[in-house]
Amino acid sequence: MSHKRQGSDLSRAVLTVNLGAIADNFRNLSSRLAPACQAGAVVKANAYGLGFEEVSKALAKAGCRHFFVADLEEGIALRRVLDKADIFVFNGPERNSEPVFDEHSLTPILNTPGQIESWSAFVASKGSRGAVIQVDTGMSRTGLDMAYLEQLAEDHKKLDGMELKFLMSHLACADEPGHPLNARQLDEFSRARSLLGEPPGSLANSSGIFLGTDYHFDLVRTGGALYGMNPVPNADNPMDSVVKLEAPILQLRDVDSPITVGYGASSRVEGPGRIATVAVGYADGYLRSLSNKGSAFVNGVRVPVIGRVSMDYITLDVSKVPEDKIHPGSVVELIGPHHGIDALAEEAGTLAYEILTGLGARYTRAYCGGSA
Ligand SMILES: *Cc1c(COP(=O)(O)O)cnc(C)c1O
Repeated sequence: MSHKRQGSDLSRAVLTVNLGAIADNFRNLSSRLAPACQAGAVVKANAYGLGFEEVSKALAKAGCRHFFVADLEEGIALRRVLDKADIFVFNGPERNSEPVFDEHSLTPILNTPGQIESWSAFVASKGSRGAVIQVDTGMSRTGLDMAYLEQLAEDHKKLDGMELKFLMSHLACADEPGHPLNARQLDEFSRARSLLGEPPGSLANSSGIFLGTDYHFDLVRTGGALYGMNPVPNADNPMDSVVKLEAPILQLRDVDSPITVGYGASSRVEGPGRIATVAVGYADGYLRSLSNKGSAFVNGVRVPVIGRVSMDYITLDVSKVPEDKIHPGSVVELIGPHHGIDALAEEAGTLAYEILTGLGARYTRAYCGGSA
């Protein structure tokens, strides 16, 4: 029989999310804002993989009033958790979903002329309703073109009955402070606001906060930095780390004579040495690009990933860990104080965003710091 405790399989990795650190990060970011500006929280994609329910409750408790999700389904789910908060839906309403937005008190972000027209027709029949308009200023992803916004400014009828909560846009290069597109987007956004009579504005994401108070306007939309990602990639991370991922050693192998490791025999150990197997693989979001590149820590000693990452396992070269400090069941730190999400992402050749949102469903999830 396998060892079971509290219904959880002890071979499984444990993902610990520190809700107190998320609340601290919210307060930290809020303290950097221009006086009239507030911090909203982006909790799309299950709060970047960390659990939208626990995370959103912790943020609301820390004083957050504005929440952003990607689509209607996420909005409905979040409304069940937070009955008072303002919830904004990035994708805006698909045709005929307007009454569903209304039923759950979700505020749509209107991105296309079609969405403007449908919402405008809806409010004409229902009475005034809040909405957000997004204008594209250089991202070319979602949002109205400036040319359409100019028309809209001249022909105000479509905006009648819409309570414009704010005008928003999204920065393409906020994590590169020297990039000339930042200033161009700021100018375009300011022009867009003046076209619509200076409604409240929302431009910055996490990194945008660090471009200076000119970029703050009335509401910032913080995601990654709340969850411990470094919003200023070329400087020390000002945020507290939030995520810890630990897994026990499933099997330890002493190597006395040369052997190859893993699929494709891509790696070789000459011996003497030791290899540890851990039950985490690419099915858990431990990216295959970490094959022969990733690292983890055992008792503070760096142990490199050796061989290819497979679906359910990785193998680590643990030869450098003193023999009395490592046993089957010893804890391996995959993400934690020695090895943060940004460091792991760099080894994988990706961003911490992709690491977090890919964190696997098989991990045992634990929350700490919830009462902070
Ligand atoms: C995801 C997203 C954000 C949050 O960005 P972070 O870099 O995680 O702070 C803000 N605004 C929009 C439009 C987004 O899609």
